[in-house]
Amino acid sequence: MKPPICEICIKHLNEDCLGESGLVWFKDYQDLPPGMVGHPKGLGWFCGQHFKSAQSLNNLSKADAVRQLKRNYGKSSSSSLS
Ligand SMILES: [Zn+2]
Repeated sequence: MKPPICEICIKHLNEDCLGESGLVWFKDYQDLPPGMVGHPKGLGWFCGQHFKSAQSLNNLSKADAVRQLKRNYGKSSSSSLS
């Protein structure tokens, strides 16, 4: 399991905000094979700011949902590319 860090803003989630943040299971979620240690595919942590938006996109794969959320929230980062 990954440490709890928001997939969108890379903020460490601590106990203070755990009530509003949490894990979201996406369409491409796959359980880890028995005996394997790691972070399951299609499962992501989100902070209180992004958790509800992420949950509303759980009909997408995690990669698509994260891409869409970053597009919605990260307006400043796209212009600095290229
Ligand atoms: Zn966040």
